[in-house]
Formats: sequence, C-alpha cells, structure tokens
Amino acid sequence: MPVTCVFGAQWGDEGKGKIVDFLSHDADYAVRFQGGANAGHTIRIGDETFAQRLTPSGVLAGAIGVIANGVVLDPNVLQRELETLRSKGIDIDGRVFVSDRAHLVLPFHGPLDRALDASRSDRWRNNTTGRGISTCMGDKHLYEGFRVADLLNARVREERLRYLLERGNVRLRSLGAEEIVIDEAVAEVESWIDWLRPLTTDTTRLLQDARAADKRILIEGAQAALLDVDFGTYPFVTSSSTGLNGVASGTGLPPRAIDNAIAVAKAYVTRVGSDAGPFPTAAEPDVAAVLQERGREFGTVTGRPRRCGWFDAVAMGHVCRLNGVDSVALTKIDILADIDPLRICVAYECDGQRLDGFPADIDTLQRCRPVYEDLPGFSGALSGIREPADLPARAREYVEAIEKAIGTDVQLLSVGPERTETITLRAS
Ligand code: GDP
Repeated sequence: MPVTCVFGAQWGDEGKGKIVDFLSHDADYAVRFQGGANAGHTIRIGDETFAQRLTPSGVLAGAIGVIANGVVLDPNVLQRELETLRSKGIDIDGRVFVSDRAHLVLPFHGPLDRALDASRSDRWRNNTTGRGISTCMGDKHLYEGFRVADLLNARVREERLRYLLERGNVRLRSLGAEEIVIDEAVAEVESWIDWLRPLTTDTTRLLQDARAADKRILIEGAQAALLDVDFGTYPFVTSSSTGLNGVASGTGLPPRAIDNAIAVAKAYVTRVGSDAGPFPTAAEPDVAAVLQERGREFGTVTGRPRRCGWFDAVAMGHVCRLNGVDSVALTKIDILADIDPLRICVAYECDGQRLDGFPADIDTLQRCRPVYEDLPGFSGALSGIREPADLPARAREYVEAIEKAIGTDVQLLSVGPERTETITLRAS
C-alpha cells in the first residue's frame, strides 16, 4: 500500500509510536501532519528508548522524515530532538524536511496557552500541555500566524514578527500574565533561521512527487481521534484534525491518496488527567490501579497519570465509521493477563435509554452508563508469542469480541513494547 495512515483511535497513548516503528521498515517517507510538540511517542529499540515529539517515528527505521504543513512547529524542541537522534547514531542529515507552510510556535504561545487554561473554571479547564499548540493553531485561523516561509523571508519577517510578538503581549497582559521581552523573543526566533533553512522545503511537492514515484509513505497521527477538534469530546480535545480528515489539509496529498487507514487502539482505554473530559468506561478502582501500574500509564510529555478503563467499542465504532478504518492494530493486550472478567462496552445508556452513536453533548456523555459484555480473562504472559495459533484461546476470543463490536478487523496484535513483540493476525 503506497500511502498508509496510522492514527490513534482512542484518547491518545495507544502505542502509535511502536506500531509506526513496526510498519516503517517498509516506508520510504514518514510524515507528521497535525499537532505539534504536545505529542509524545515512546519507541523502544533494544536498550534505547526514544521519545519523539515532532520528528516522525519512522525516521528511526530509516525513513525520510517529513514535518508537513499541518504541524505547528516549535523549533526549540525540534532542534533538541534532532541533536538527540544524531547523538544516538540515527542518520538524519538530509533526511528530515520541514514544510515552508508550517506555522511556528512563537515565544508567547506557550505562556498564553497556560494563562488561558488557568483562567478557565475547573469544569471547563482543558488541562492543555501548555506548549502553545492551541494558541499557535488559533492564531493560524485568526490570520495572525507566522510560518516557516515568513521567517525565511527577510521583508515579511521585518514587517510581521515584532508586530505579532507585541500582539501576544497584549493578550498576556489582558490575562494578568507575565509579558515576554520582545527583543529577546526576536533574537530567539531569528536564531532559528540558519539551521531551519536547509531543512525547509515545499513538502506538498515532495510528497506528491514521492507518491507519483510509487514511494511508500507512512503518515503518522499524533494525539487521537477522540481528541479531534470536530469529532472528539469538545472542548476537551486537541486543536487539530487528528484522523484521516486532517491528512489532506495537513500534507497537501489529495484526500483520495490514502490507500490504507490503520487505527491504533489499546486493548483497554486510558485518558490523560484526573478529570478533564468524559471517560465513560472508567474501570473499578482495583482494576484501574493494576492497569495503571502494569501498563505504566503516565504521560510521555507531562508525566501525569492516565485514567484507565475498559475497552469502549461505542467510542471506537464512532472512530471507525468517521475514518473508514481498514484495520486495527490492538496494543498492550499483554497488560490484561490474569484480569477476570474482561469487559467490553458495547452500548451506552443514558437516562434509561440506549443511545445510538457517540453523543456530542458533554453532559449526556458524562451521564452515560456503559453496557458491558463480560468475557473470561486469560492467563499467562503473551509477550513471547509471535504466531496467532499460540495465543491462549480466551485472548483470541477477546480480540474477536472487539472485532465484532467495532465492525473492523484487528490486523496487528501488540504483546509488548518491542518492535518484535507484534503478532500479524491477518496479512494486509
Ligand atoms: P503513543 O503516543 O501512542 O505512541 O503512546 P505512548 O508512547 O504514550 O505509550 C505507549 C507506551 O506503551 C510506550 O511506552 C510503549 O513502549 C508501550 N507499548 C506499546 N505497545 C505495547 C504493548 O503491546 N505492550 C506493552 N506492555 N507496552 C506497549
């Protein structure tokens, strides 16, 4: 399949990094198309652990990395990440490209993001990562953004940069937050020019030409489909289009270019933060504690503990329908060993009524009661298994019950963090 998109199908942290890494030994190009340095993928290769925020995970397997126009770019993060990759022996020179259309996270975007979130009431606080992604995305839509192309054009830079930074300060002041020092901010932004210029290109052409030459392109989603700005649990969402809906606008590839859509889902669900956003299938506290500890459910970027719950086939069905998912990569099933019973949420009930679909209304979602199908648990470690036939029958039954509930096949089953700890259940 020349153009494949891999994206998270739940609330993030599904193990996209690992699945992308597994698939990317076949890829010529690895592409990020949305979000920014608020993402965090953890990839374990042998003894090394890589935490990627902006560089596509596929570069670790040798693909050419493309940070496309839909990403909002924090050059400070990218610079550090590239240095780390270089120091760990990953060949990235001339192999990572940045879109000239990507918007830049300016020095006030982070403080403004934090000040805005702090000014919200407890109930409506988004608990953003505070990295300036939403404020940068917002400015893009307010025509107050500053792109890589603008940075590299001396006249545009002269006319726009200081003006935009001063506008940032006006907003910081209005929220009672500390202002940035404009001269320092100008110097910081200008320090990006020299090293960013050689990486910068028209990535729309790069990708279109790669596609025309039948190169294999792996498009990597960050965050996840239930955090999509349109289809997620608004306003407890991220500021971009996280599924296939964002790929065309975020890369310049035509919408019909995507040949294969793979949704990554955990065999249970997690959601970052203690209370921001609905989480209908929260598990009983004893089970949640086991999942959190065994699954190491703490944020890569924030270190915050994640809420843990049962597999939610209602939410995932919504995602499969929205994205026309071809297959699912189911991760972390090993974490469920010896938990009995295993529960799958097959419907929501609200005020005694079964709901059809995934509600937009936050209050309804918060009042929903999950209807569970219980299955017997399986025992034993799965991480050494490589062949579908060697899986315990109850683990297979659990996967089949998920497939039935979401109406989509599970193609890959991940039984551990390593690249090799992956079972191909069906050929692609
Ligand atoms: P991402 O942002 O979707 O890539 O997810 P994170 O990096 O936040 O979290 C995934 C974590 O789970 C990483 O530490 C992975 O190494 C780990 N992981 C991925 N797949 C599996 C799996 O099948 N089993 C186990 N035990 N860990 C996994």
